[in-house]
Amino acid sequence: MPVQLPEQFRERMQAQLGPEYDAFRAALATEPPVSIRLNPAKPTAGISDDLSPVPWHPQGYYLPERPVFTLDPLFHAGGYYVQEASSMVLREVLKQVYPGKYPLKALDLSAAPGGKSTLLASWLPQGSLLLANEVIRSRVTILKENLDRWGYANTFTSSYDPEAFSGLNGYFDVVLVDAPCSGEGLFRKDHAAVNEWSEEHVQMCSSRQRRILAAAMKLVAPGGVLLYSTCTYNEFENEQNADWLAREQGLTPVALSLPAEWGVVPKGIGYQLYPHLVRGEGFYFAAFRQTRGTGFQGKPQRNFTKLMPLGRKQEAAMGDWLEDADQFFYLQRPDETVLMAPASLRQDLLILDRTLPQGVWMREVGEFKGKDFIPAHALALSTDIATQLPYVELDRDSSLQFLKKENLILPEAPKGWLLARHRGLNLGWMKNLGNRMNNYLPKDWRIRMDIREV
Ligand code: SAM
Repeated sequence: MPVQLPEQFRERMQAQLGPEYDAFRAALATEPPVSIRLNPAKPTAGISDDLSPVPWHPQGYYLPERPVFTLDPLFHAGGYYVQEASSMVLREVLKQVYPGKYPLKALDLSAAPGGKSTLLASWLPQGSLLLANEVIRSRVTILKENLDRWGYANTFTSSYDPEAFSGLNGYFDVVLVDAPCSGEGLFRKDHAAVNEWSEEHVQMCSSRQRRILAAAMKLVAPGGVLLYSTCTYNEFENEQNADWLAREQGLTPVALSLPAEWGVVPKGIGYQLYPHLVRGEGFYFAAFRQTRGTGFQGKPQRNFTKLMPLGRKQEAAMGDWLEDADQFFYLQRPDETVLMAPASLRQDLLILDRTLPQGVWMREVGEFKGKDFIPAHALALSTDIATQLPYVELDRDSSLQFLKKENLILPEAPKGWLLARHRGLNLGWMKNLGNRMNNYLPKDWRIRMDIREV
């Protein structure tokens, strides 16, 4: 059913689009396109055959219709992320503002559920650090799950209000504010956004965005970039905030060169995607370079506050589980969970640990129970896992059984820890005890849907 638009919104869009309004309105009455972005670190042969590409992202593809993603094992393995196509344009922005290939420190300040963070993780040059932050606690679980699935060890998570980062002023090369907004650009996809829309809500969003941007811009290192995006059309949340950053806060807008056939419309300092001009939803973005300030001057402390180094023997055992175990350093939480992070990022993580009250969450590797090591689910999904570990390749039905946390019967399988794998991608751990096969999928990750009904 075509969505009923609030009258004030309709009038504003008519004024904004003029004669194009009818095409915009007609686009909102069509089915929203469905798109995915492939994980370049988890390739699966043939997955994109016959799919039409998203013009602005080499790993972005449109699907002919919306499948039940829950029933696709490759989705659970992190083979792709289901992402609205317009927002994938941020990759082109990043490419143009940072053409070099040197390591960067990036902060995604409003990260849940993780669409832009996974995009950033795949784009960032080797050796970079990405901190994905989400202030709303209840949204952190899905963010962590999605980042665990994506599998990158240089990606860390936190849950702070933007102002809590003030000890890191001038530290990050890239700060992304994908701001909470009035969501006008999602009206076709999300009818709840239509019901929540009001002029007051737009004004509230606009001032909240300004508060977030005021904190965010200070975190950018001299020469670094602030990226601002929303999924809305109105000038209060878009142009006016962008102008404020440029005129009153002294940031330098970055002009981008985007092929005309993409259909992205320059709008003041920034750029807008409209559903009648692109195959995607409404999206706005603007990029700014920070040319002022002195940069971060802080020094790392010697040790992590609440995390202990791993014992020598236990550290040596990591070589059994990770492909290049000596590229990482390891820490242990008070509950004895072993964590890993790239050794090259140690000093940076010490800085984050000192500056942020609760530090950041790092990737879990597992836990020692006496002499035994219990591998974490995040390790199964890690792109750094050892390639020679025993595994069982499962067909789609058995994969779904595994993902429902059922115990499989696999008489030929070797004993001990085994990776459940589908089309070359790991789904999780099983342990073959000879007389039974235990399924180690975390219970919160299991498919709850009745798979026989679909
Ligand atoms: N970047 C995400 C992605 O691509 O998957 C989407 C982010 S969504 C547009 C905006 C996020 O901002 C939400 O997760 C919301 O919880 C968070 N948020 C809400 N209030 C905030 C605040 N005051 N400061 C920072 N983020 C906030």
